[in-house]
Amino acid sequence: MILPKAAKLTPDQLQEVTAIVTEFGCRIHPIVGALRTIYAILGDERDELMINRLEGLPYIERIDRIQSPFKLMDSRSDLATHRIRIGGVTLGEELLVIAGHCTIDPKHPEYFYETAHAVKEAGARVLRGGVWKPRTNPYAFQGDDKSLDILMEASRRTGLPVDTEVMDECQLKLALDAGVHMLQVGARNALNYSLLRQIGAAVAGRATIVLLKRSLHMGTLNEFISAAEYIANFGNPNIILCPRGTAPALDGYRNHPDESIVPLLREHTWAPVVVDPSHAVGKASYVPAAALAAIAYGADGLCLEAHVQPSKGIGDDPKQAVTPDMLAAIIHRARAIWDLNHAETGGR
Ligand code: PEP
Ligand code: MN
Repeated sequence: MILPKAAKLTPDQLQEVTAIVTEFGCRIHPIVGALRTIYAILGDERDELMINRLEGLPYIERIDRIQSPFKLMDSRSDLATHRIRIGGVTLGEELLVIAGHCTIDPKHPEYFYETAHAVKEAGARVLRGGVWKPRTNPYAFQGDDKSLDILMEASRRTGLPVDTEVMDECQLKLALDAGVHMLQVGARNALNYSLLRQIGAAVAGRATIVLLKRSLHMGTLNEFISAAEYIANFGNPNIILCPRGTAPALDGYRNHPDESIVPLLREHTWAPVVVDPSHAVGKASYVPAAALAAIAYGADGLCLEAHVQPSKGIGDDPKQAVTPDMLAAIIHRARAIWDLNHAETGGR
């Protein structure tokens, strides 16, 4: 990682630096931060001669070498001071709640608009709504492009930024063109490296945020954080990690709740963690306990399925969506735990 003395390199300096690293089979990826731009050296950056040449340049402050499989997302990276902000919330400074339908029903947009207002009223700062859905059964409703208009209309009506899952390049383009603020990578695609690369390339240079779910079958932390690195190495480090339960399921729950991974993630990565208890437990009545446990474990926020009338919903909503009243109660209690944690630790 190259740290220039000034806020960023001039075009001539960047050209000189690029020429040096290219000689050693590496390339440069600028990471644009609010205050300064830093330059990741991608490739094998261990060559002493390359480092010496870079360190010898008069406009370079220092070269940081992190021996980590995820040097951008590593908690020792210079990106550790990077803050992600959405819906008026700076992650890590205030609890972030993302809430809304599992799936938008294009035949009944009114439910989504009602839910959008209700989750805002309950304290959510980002509205979620599934436009395209990864369904186990190929005959189940797969989503509809029309729902994207409903999602953006709900955003306009409430002023809330929106989160939706994309599963391929075409959906990615539609979502970005429509102005979706947060792109969700689902549990099924969290290890789809070509999709991660496409998303990384598409969000580079934008303010878009990526909510990266933990895959159903992800074992090691390394796999999870490296999946985020795939996206970050294109230049946009706005990535939030989202544990959402893993397989095999705990008998009675939809998955194996994994909010206990939060302290481990904290140690290894600077990325904020927003836990999704809805998919972990899979039943609305279990969601409050799982949500509060996630905050007690130190999560920065929650992603919850919520619906004004869950029984009228589609996708996961009839089973696992909480009502706006339940959501308001969860947020109230989660904020109390969050405040307590932060008063005692002075932050993270
Ligand atoms: C969802 O958020 O509705 C969803 C399908 O989530 P996951 O990818 O975690 O299953
Ligand atoms: Mn769902």
